[in-house]
Formats: sequence, C-alpha cells, structure tokens
Amino acid sequence: MNCFRLLPILLLAAGTAMAQTPAAASAANSLPTPPPETKSFDLSAMDKTADPCTDFYQYACGNWIKNNPIPADQTRWARSFSLLQERNRYLLWQQLDAAAKTPKTPLEKKYGDFYAACMNTPLVEEKGIKPLQPALKQIGDLKDSRSLAPLIGALAAEGNTAPLFRFAIGPDDKDSSKEIAEIAQSGLSLPDRDYYLSDSKRFQDIRKQYVEHVARMFTLAGDAPDQAQKEAEAVMKIETAFAKASTSRTEMRVPENVYHIYSVADFQKMVPDFEFEAYFKDIKVGKFETLNVATPNFFKALNDLIASEPVEGWKSYLRWHTIHGSASNLPKAFFDENFAFFGKTLAGQKEPTPRWKQCTAMTDGALGEAVGQDWVKNNFPPAAKASMDQLVAALEKALGDDIKDLPWMSDETKKAAAEKLAMIRNKIGYPEKWRDYSALTVERDDLIGNQRRSVVFARNWNLGKLGKPVDEKEWSMTPPTVNAYYNSSMNDINFPAGILQPPFFDFKIDPAVNFGGIGVVIGHEITHGFDDHGSKYDGKGNLREWQTAEDRKAFTERTGCEVDEYSGFEAAPAHDGIAAQNLNGKLTLGENTADNGGLRIAYVALLDTLAAQGKNINDQIDGYTEAQRYFIGFAQVWCQNQTEEAARQLALTDSHSPGRWRTNGSVQNFDEFGKAFHCTKGQPMYPVKSCRVW
Ligand SMILES: [Zn+2]
Repeated sequence: MNCFRLLPILLLAAGTAMAQTPAAASAANSLPTPPPETKSFDLSAMDKTADPCTDFYQYACGNWIKNNPIPADQTRWARSFSLLQERNRYLLWQQLDAAAKTPKTPLEKKYGDFYAACMNTPLVEEKGIKPLQPALKQIGDLKDSRSLAPLIGALAAEGNTAPLFRFAIGPDDKDSSKEIAEIAQSGLSLPDRDYYLSDSKRFQDIRKQYVEHVARMFTLAGDAPDQAQKEAEAVMKIETAFAKASTSRTEMRVPENVYHIYSVADFQKMVPDFEFEAYFKDIKVGKFETLNVATPNFFKALNDLIASEPVEGWKSYLRWHTIHGSASNLPKAFFDENFAFFGKTLAGQKEPTPRWKQCTAMTDGALGEAVGQDWVKNNFPPAAKASMDQLVAALEKALGDDIKDLPWMSDETKKAAAEKLAMIRNKIGYPEKWRDYSALTVERDDLIGNQRRSVVFARNWNLGKLGKPVDEKEWSMTPPTVNAYYNSSMNDINFPAGILQPPFFDFKIDPAVNFGGIGVVIGHEITHGFDDHGSKYDGKGNLREWQTAEDRKAFTERTGCEVDEYSGFEAAPAHDGIAAQNLNGKLTLGENTADNGGLRIAYVALLDTLAAQGKNINDQIDGYTEAQRYFIGFAQVWCQNQTEEAARQLALTDSHSPGRWRTNGSVQNFDEFGKAFHCTKGQPMYPVKSCRVW
C-alpha cells in the first residue's frame, strides 16, 4: 500500500471513522462489550411506508436509520460495515488482551507487549513530551534551509514524522514486473487542499480554528503564547503554499497524470535546494538511476519555498508535524486538544474512541500479519474459503457473459477485455506466507519508540523491494479488516477474512441475499479492473491502451453519464448560510462504476445459480421474490448514519459515494430493479434514461 496513485482501490475508504486520529488517554477508558450480531436480511430495518420506486434506500433502511443513532465515539455508523468492524475489533481485542497478560508464544509476546505499551496511560503521562525531545532538538538546531534534506533524512531514519513528500518503492506503471522508486506530494495536515484554498465561509472558519489549535499545541509543548501564535501562522503559510502546489484528488486519479520518469540527476536539478542524495542515504534505500516523480509541479514549488521561506518557518513547520504526528500517544492534554479539533470540529465526533479500540487498531496496523495469523485460526474456517472460490468463479463468469453482450463494444475490444478478465488473480482470506517481524523490536514500556520502530520496519520492508520482481502474493490489508480491494498493477482482487462473515457472507441464508451482499462486493472489485482508472491497465497490470480508439470514446461518453448523474446527488444540505455539498462525480467515478457493475453482474450470477438449482428469480420466500430479496440484501449493506461534518469532509476526500447514493444510484441504473418492484417507467428508481458502462 505504498503508492500515491490511489492504489489499491478499496471497497470503502480505509479508516472511514475519521477517528483514525487519536487514542485517548482520557475519559475513553470504557470496558469492551461484545457487539450485537447483524442479520443479513432484516425486515425490521425497512420502512415499509416508503415507496421502493421513489426512494429505495429509505424503503430498505429507513427504520434502521431512525433507530440507530451514531454512537458518540463514531462519525459514521453503518449497519453492515461498522457492526462487523466492531465485532472483529472486539475479537481481536480479546486476543491482544490475553496475549498482553499471559503470552504463550514469542509472537504473542511481541504483539501483547505492543498492545500493553499502548494501554499504559499512566506511563504516557509520566513521560510527557520527553520522547519527542531528541527530534525537537534536531529541528531546533537547523542552521539554514539548505540543511533541510539531511534533517528530514535524519528524522525519517528514526521513524519520526518527516513531512514534505512521500517516497516509496512500488510497481512501475508501465512494467508491472519491476519495483521502482516513486516520490509524490504531501505535507498537509488538513484533510484536503480545498481546506486551505476555498473561499467559502465554512473553510475560512475551519482555517481560523486550525491556526488556533496549532498554537494551543505549541503552548502545551512549552512555548510562550505569542511565540506559539507566530509559529502557528508560519505552519499555515507553508501548508497553504503546499496546498496551492498540490494536484487535486480528481487529477491524481488519472494514471497518466502521475507518471513521469526522471533520472535522479534531472530530478535533483529540478529541486536544487533539497539534497536528495543525503535523504536517500539516511533512509538507507539502495541505488537507483531513475524514479517516478508523480507530481513534478509540487517539487518545483517545494524548491521555491525552500529558497524563500526563512529557516524559522521551517523549524515551526517541522516542530508542528513532530508533535501532531504523535498527538495520540502523548499525555491527555495533547490528546484532548487534538481530538477537539480533528475529531470534533472537523468530523463531528462527540467523544474520543475508547483507548482499547485505539490500541487494538494500532497493534493491527503495526503488526497486522502477526496478529492476523492467530486471528484467522479462530475466526476463518477453511470451508469459507472454498465457498468464496465458487462465488468468485460465478461472478467472473457473469462479467464474461456481460462483456460478450455489451451493445457498444467492438469484437476486438471485447476479446481484449475477456483476456484481461481471465488474468485477474483472486486472493481470499489471508496471505499464503506471513511477514516475518523478527527485525522489529517491541518494548513493553515504550509506546512512542514502538511506533517509530514499526514505521522504520515497514519502510525497510518496502525499500527492500527495490529492483526485485513484484511479489504477487503480498497483501495490502490485514486479515481482520472489513474491506476489499482491487490493485491495478497486480490485476488482483483481495478479500480479507474480516469481510467474509455475516452479514456479507452467510451460508445459512438463501443465495439471493448472499449475492446481494458478498456477491456485489466481489462484482464491485472485479469491475474496478474495468472502470475509468482500472481500464487503463492491461491484464499484466501495465498502463497500456487495449480498447480501440472508438471504444474508448464510447466508454468515456458512458462514464461521463455517471459523472453528471452522481454530481447531482447531495451529500449534505444547505442551512444557516452554509452551502449544500454535492458529490464530486469525477472523484467518485471509479467507485460508482464498480457499484453499478457489481450490482449487475452479481444479479446475472444469481440467475445462473438459481437456474442450476431449478429455481426462478420470481420464486417467493417470506413474501419477497428472490429478486426483491437480492436488492433489499444489497441495500441493507449500505444503511448508515453519519455526522454532517463527516459527510462534508468525505464528499471532498472520499472516492466512494455515501450509502444512500451507492444504493439509489446503482438501482436506478439497472432496469431489473424497476421490474422486480413493479415500478412504472419514469419513477425515480426506474427512469426512462439511465447510465450504463458495464
Ligand atoms: Zn471500490
């Protein structure tokens, strides 16, 4: 998960609860409780007073939405995703808590100690800001802007937050068998460049509150108030310059926009004031002659900024990122201040996430394949993998049939699409080979040290790939994760064990509901190989056109239909002088295409499955036809509530549409839905004109 090209493509945003931010040393010490089970098909979730042909999301989810307010420690609460996430986290917590108390293996000792160090809040208080002092001293000693490179290198070498840009090793877009060096823009603290650049009153207010927050954090770190204020303004100035130089998320989605191979020498000439050789040496990356500079304009602007910004400004900026980057692991005063801005103000979260949840997530993040290998032993039966193999095969066959029948595509392109489809690799449950963590030292009394060492460990693991063949067996998600992804460079679909459970995957229930759940998820990921981004890559994962010029034109017209359609959907309403926030149809295009394709091909796969069992799509179970159960099961995956702040933030930053539009947008583009619910042509969910790509 090293790339900047928005790879891999997830089923939903990673860390959708934006409370990825911080752990609390605070109030948040409530005890874990086992979460309730979620049914795959729940009649009580429905609002039967709503008309399915007018607003299907309200019909399938209305009662659930009314009866399930957002818990205080969440910003988004989704019937399927959140409840399963909570359940998986609880099971993982049990494992970590036991390992922290009485470890039975060296691996249990390692992750148990990591978890225990995170839970030791009295020690966090006692240490105060001391663990950051060496880094803050190095920053304080910065003599001139030209010395930034060795300083950033030295900070990064120790696992400290080293902003400015992202550097990693990843597959070459044009030769996916090769791992190459890549560098891209970074350096912001707010969620998106719009937060710095938009003139709207809302963003002006947020910027003002942000500067106040930064100043308060400096004050907590011991700076005098007037000094803290000056420093905060310098941070804002530098980050705003970075925001101006940054390429937008929408533009970053276009593979050609982020592929620029430079020789190291030419790249260095473009950024003469930042000595990359020193930085590369510090982080101990091997020798390379060329690299992909994803965002050249950003680096030109970085050089101008290094040349023009006084050294005091850089010190403030780096000091800020050092403190901010560790805020969740510092004493309560820092934690609370950080939560008040990033949790409450930006995302609308009322209370901090309980410490045990934060520490469980942190341990999973740092030692995912260590905790994961024990987690799957208890929580992922081998039979589930065999059933998934069958389902994936059914979905791939359905897309193959769909391609054959596409009215707008030439035979030549159909052949190329079928070839790509046949080359998709399926990865189910967990990696064949687990990562070896023996080089990572974990100390039971050193939370911040553990975090830093795990950052260095993960980077070394990534840098070690340079010049080697791409490892097709690698995973970018840990086994308990409730999510899935497609990776364009690998041309593979990946389903962690965490999502292969009820309510997504439940073989106690009829196939229609399972196809509406995990079937659509599988179809979604396969379709990513053929969305506006994935379709630019061939079966080997290389950026190469395989559609004829005419077919590409027709494809772009069809995706344009979805861009316009989803741009018309509202994410948050206008009120009190704040403008309404619509979705960005371009940012969400790939996900919307995958949702639409997934719903269509899972339906075709269901028809095949029912036919093989001698059943019919119009057969009834408990008063609903198989088709109706399929669509209701699908919609109920997406029932959710979210804070207005989160809705507005995600509309700018998340490539996924919110649940309402993932549901209604998909069904209104698929005529089989209107037929299943006996809608009249022209009703909102059964429109006369609709969009279709696949
Ligand atoms: Zn997706």
